[in-house]
Amino acid sequence: MPRTISSERFRELFDRFNEIGATERGGVNRPSLSPENERARDALVEWFEDAGLSVTVDEMGNLFGRRGGRDDDLPPVLIGSHVDSQYNGGRYDGVIGVLGALEVVQMLNDAGIETERPIEVVSWSNEEGVRFQPDMLGSGVFAGKFDREFAYSREDKEGNTFGEELERIGYHGKELCEPRDLHSYIELHVEQGPKLEDSDLSVGIVEGVYGFVWFDAAFEGSADHAGPTPMHLRHDALVATGDVIDAVRRIAGTGGEDLVGTVGSLDVSPNSINVIPERVDFTVDFRSYNDSVVNQAADRICEEIDHAATREGIEAEYEEIMRIESQSFDEGVIEAVADAANALDADATRLVSGAGHDASYLNRVCPTGMIFVPSVDGVSHTEDEFTEWGDVVTGVNVLLNATIEKANEGIEWG
Ligand SMILES: [Zn+2]
Repeated sequence: MPRTISSERFRELFDRFNEIGATERGGVNRPSLSPENERARDALVEWFEDAGLSVTVDEMGNLFGRRGGRDDDLPPVLIGSHVDSQYNGGRYDGVIGVLGALEVVQMLNDAGIETERPIEVVSWSNEEGVRFQPDMLGSGVFAGKFDREFAYSREDKEGNTFGEELERIGYHGKELCEPRDLHSYIELHVEQGPKLEDSDLSVGIVEGVYGFVWFDAAFEGSADHAGPTPMHLRHDALVATGDVIDAVRRIAGTGGEDLVGTVGSLDVSPNSINVIPERVDFTVDFRSYNDSVVNQAADRICEEIDHAATREGIEAEYEEIMRIESQSFDEGVIEAVADAANALDADATRLVSGAGHDASYLNRVCPTGMIFVPSVDGVSHTEDEFTEWGDVVTGVNVLLNATIEKANEGIEWG
């Protein structure tokens, strides 16, 4: 028989937590290392300790709560997510993964269930990447993707560094932030897309995460008066950018079934109604589960940027600022999640995540998997983010049973 959590207790925990940094429109504002993020961390430490977990904070501010195993020397099963939010973000993103993991522990405590391996609950630092870029900084350092000094040097818009702010809120812990022996990692998260809702399903068994490439690019033309300058004498940086936006659409439409492409940021200068745009700084983002599809899209857009510059008689510059290969999760963890969903009779399907998660980095250091629950209207990163409570509870129940399975894996019971 599958185990189940207490829906009422979990609801109370969830609502209490989301009072911290609550916004008038029903969201939360708890960006990384803000006063609200500090209070959210304080609450977690208190609740972890109340649940009998031994709490450690590492030098990136990642927060761990450990429940001992029957054999405490075995590598633990790690479960969790993040509690930093977007500016005026939603109440579910990350939160259900951390609080859900805490609820798993409470259920095991209440039922007096021991597991062979220890279980650790984790809340990763700076997942969202809205105040300090890049995103997934805490799990990235943990997995060896970034070094610690790089992380500490990240600055917000006011020039405060991640290192100073971590110190200021009192969460610069002593524990080294580096890969260590973990049995497995399981993360519960909202889908942030429409697939589950469209198919009327409650649970996504996540098989992997899209790879992606990011470019910073700019065109430099010349600013002239919008009146006296004839069309054939113009060197308009925004016209060239328009060609690139069009090309991104075209490449995404022809480059591979799941390829998506976005120009998400434009900075036009001087940005004035009667001046021909002299300079435009912009970004390009391509993603697919197939790394060679991402590579081809990256090559094609570089050519398109060069062509657009030639056509307009202007200078182009571009730089690849980030490239992450797609991640395929561990078959064993995927199976444990699928078995749990099956035992609970949940309406589930296998899918791939278009968004990056802490699990993408954890996948580099231990067997990893994820569980998705539906995002109503596919919406996330806004105050309107919503998941039906029944689906949240089903997701936590899948996490619970998958965690028990992994924590006792390979152990014969006498
Ligand atoms: Zn998230």
